[in-house]
Amino acid sequence: MKRHPWVQVLLLSSIFMLTVIIGMFTFITGNPKYQISTVSASSEVIEAKETVKEDTEENAEKQTLSTVEVPSTFNGIRLFKENSADPAAPYSITYPNMAYEKLNKEISQYIETSKQQYFSSVKQTKNPNAKKNLHIQVKISSYKQIYYSIVFTKQITLGGKNIDETFNTLVFNGKTGERILPRILFNKDVQNLQKLSTYVRQKMLEPKGYKENINLAKWNKASYPYWDRYNRFAIENDSFVLYYNKAEFSNRIIGSPSVSIPLSFLNPILASEFQSKTKSATTILTPIQKKPIKRVALTFDDGPHKTITKQILNILDKYNAKATFFMVGERVGGNAAVVKDVAARGHEIGNHSWDHARLTKLSSKNAQSEITTTNNIIFKVTGQYPTVFRPPYGEKNKQLTDFAKVPVVLWTIDTLDWKYRDSSKLLPMIQKNIKNNDIILMHDIHQSTANGLENVLIYLKKQGYECVTVSEILASQK
Ligand code: ZN
Repeated sequence: MKRHPWVQVLLLSSIFMLTVIIGMFTFITGNPKYQISTVSASSEVIEAKETVKEDTEENAEKQTLSTVEVPSTFNGIRLFKENSADPAAPYSITYPNMAYEKLNKEISQYIETSKQQYFSSVKQTKNPNAKKNLHIQVKISSYKQIYYSIVFTKQITLGGKNIDETFNTLVFNGKTGERILPRILFNKDVQNLQKLSTYVRQKMLEPKGYKENINLAKWNKASYPYWDRYNRFAIENDSFVLYYNKAEFSNRIIGSPSVSIPLSFLNPILASEFQSKTKSATTILTPIQKKPIKRVALTFDDGPHKTITKQILNILDKYNAKATFFMVGERVGGNAAVVKDVAARGHEIGNHSWDHARLTKLSSKNAQSEITTTNNIIFKVTGQYPTVFRPPYGEKNKQLTDFAKVPVVLWTIDTLDWKYRDSSKLLPMIQKNIKNNDIILMHDIHQSTANGLENVLIYLKKQGYECVTVSEILASQK
């Protein structure tokens, strides 16, 4: 059957119109997306504009801008070096090019963004003669001859400021072009990530000067167990290396911060294809051997004292030290605020009799009353009963010990502060005898003791001693 000629015309023209509409639609919706999502597209636009420029400018550009291929030691990875000698914004950028367009695109995005940021910073520089430069270098490493790691080091010099150095990395499977992210490396297991995070957090504090200068809040954020916090890594020399930008935790740190962990150490948490053939004696699963901590108990007897006890509390807080205060019952009611403060600041309160009597010389009834009344007033003020008991003059017998129901604690170092009343004699008395788990006897009713205490705490800290309560020392000796 033959169509009528006008039907034929109508059919052809509608096909034509449809094609035009589809074409326009693709142009309108597709093109802007392309421009926004890739920086390389905008660079193409810039180049297109540049060709319109006058001949003289174009020639000048040709002289300052050059891209050359440089030798690469890895098959399948070509290296290019782009140089601009433009005095207004000179730069030198080395970048790789592989058979994988997706990776190339990511690299060119990074390079272009870096350039644009550099150019806009240069524009903002007030002094046009200030020294400026952008320098991007690459370091390539291979692992098992399959996985390749590219580390970009970007250095920006702007005026008199120091060089700002930041990093970027890209790890990929050389056979497939697949990008390797931490999630793949650590077997898609969040628990593995948590183990890594715990280890990295502590490891970063080890280098000299880091612990003191690090901004812990920033560092905790940068090392938080989220996968994307671990994206900036490389596999170099059979080690997992994390790169950090200084701004992420402290500008006061000297050098470029990175954490390097042998893959053999990480074997238990790595996906099998990334595990190292090297066996490690210790791994990330090996329990951390705690450093033997040295501890001492500072004890203060015969208080509380309205002002001296308060001074002592402030010094203890300053050095994050805990102590035990053996209080005399009859002084508690009149100094309730101080007693409450002792408890509130996390120190231990002990019973030291009601009126500092020689308990072994009293009738058992009176001796027991000394203990009970003191327990009661301390409970009334703080809401807690004393957890330890120290008889005045250290004089005790079995009856007292049995009645106290809490540990009866004497001391191992007597500072004789009550006798010397000399702040400069406090530290030497301690220095001479100090050892782990010592219980040091002092009195918080002598001004000289409060005055000499800070030097004692400085010394103990330097020697690695932790100041804990008497009960903590007792617990460790069980
Ligand atoms: Zn006493």
